[in-house]
Amino acid sequence: MSKKKQPILDFSNTQIAFERKSNKELKKMARMFSLMNSRSLVNIGSKLGMLAIKLRLPISGIVKKTIFEQFCGGTTLLECQSTVNELYDHKVQTILDYGAEAKHTEKDFNATMRETIRAIKFANENLSVPVVSCKITGLARFEILEKLQEGIELTDSEQEEYKNAFKRMDSLCHVAHEFNVGIFIDAEESWIQNTIDFFARSMMERYNKEKVIIYNTFQLYRHDRLEFLKTSHQLAQKDGYLLGAKLVRGAYMEKENNRAEEMGYPTPIQPNKAATDNDYNKGIEYCIDHYEEIGVCNASHNEHSAMLMAELIATRNLPKRHPHLNFCQLLGMSDHLSFNLAKSGYCVAKYVPYGPVRDVVPYLIRRARENTAVVGDMSRELGFIKSEMARRKLK
Ligand SMILES: Cc1cc2nc3c(=O)[nH]c(=O)nc-3n(C[C@H](O)[C@H](O)[C@H](O)COP(=O)(O)OP(=O)(O)OC[C@H]3O[C@@H](n4cnc5c(N)ncnc54)[C@H](O)[C@@H]3O)c2cc1C
Repeated sequence: MSKKKQPILDFSNTQIAFERKSNKELKKMARMFSLMNSRSLVNIGSKLGMLAIKLRLPISGIVKKTIFEQFCGGTTLLECQSTVNELYDHKVQTILDYGAEAKHTEKDFNATMRETIRAIKFANENLSVPVVSCKITGLARFEILEKLQEGIELTDSEQEEYKNAFKRMDSLCHVAHEFNVGIFIDAEESWIQNTIDFFARSMMERYNKEKVIIYNTFQLYRHDRLEFLKTSHQLAQKDGYLLGAKLVRGAYMEKENNRAEEMGYPTPIQPNKAATDNDYNKGIEYCIDHYEEIGVCNASHNEHSAMLMAELIATRNLPKRHPHLNFCQLLGMSDHLSFNLAKSGYCVAKYVPYGPVRDVVPYLIRRARENTAVVGDMSRELGFIKSEMARRKLK
């Protein structure tokens, strides 16, 4: 009789996952995830949240004491310090993520750049913060990125804006290189992604000669990205630099599909979830096959993809703590993956968003939407929290 293969990790170990949470904290998490479990409540909450921001209503206090506490490190770097330390007590590193989204003015963009440079310096002083993430739309106007992608000629003042954006990006990457801190460049909508890819490649060419400092992000929910990952690797080899590759499935699926339908072009999104999963896992395998030339970050909450990468590392006898082999989850989510991986010696980090409450509201809304019940009557997170509560015999 054939013996069933034992998985090398047990992600269902909730004792390890929630070791750092007191009973009181666990109960608070359960209450919050139960609220988020309801789709209608999340829909109403999201609309009210965005309206309150528009009307500049004073909602910071209530948001900060509830959902913000679960998913964010704090409003400032200093406030993040305790989260950073607490994670590191359990061998989990931190990737700082300043919550600037959809900014519009040169003043805003310069402020984001200065804050990101502060984060790089903070990372340099904290061994447990190897990387800082950034969004190009926090540094440059969306319309300029879009025009560049479409090949539309920029006006003189737009040219100036573009040059400034490139300089901002270069300043960040230059400081990161000097301080030996990594930079993740987030992936965004497909109609500006070619421009983002261009920025990322230019920076990797400059700063990834000896070590992976800059990482581009590959969204495998797009059917063309596995191929793009391979071409990016070949280009890096040809031009003599290392590729930094953060792999994600992708966060803008609905928006992508809707735009494609409205504008009458074929959607860039895969035909179904299985196709996304398949390309994602092939992407992980490709990076592991070439791990000396590619610094990979498996940025996902998918258990199978985490297990696949852990198994590939184990079966090929690769060093678990090789700087090119990384896992990452968002703060407040999938602790069953992060803490079990860390306990087994893999390199794991949490994305820790921070910033003024009103700036991170759109991020919080995305997290709330992700945590409504998808299968059955309970979200994945709530299921794990309830299991741990049962294990601790809590009511
Ligand atoms: C550390 C970290 C960093 C991230 N950075 C980025 C970033 O820079 N840019 C970005 O876009 N996203 C980013 N994300 C979000 C990510 O893209 C996913 O939306 C999210 O993590 C859910 O995917 P998953 O791999 O965790 O797992 P799963 O829950 O297994 O997958 C859900 C994902 O599968 C895909 N999917 C679902 N249904 C279908 C379908 N019918 N057809 C095709 N595909 C489908 C979608 O991408 C969906 O988000 C990041 C996530 C993490 C954890």
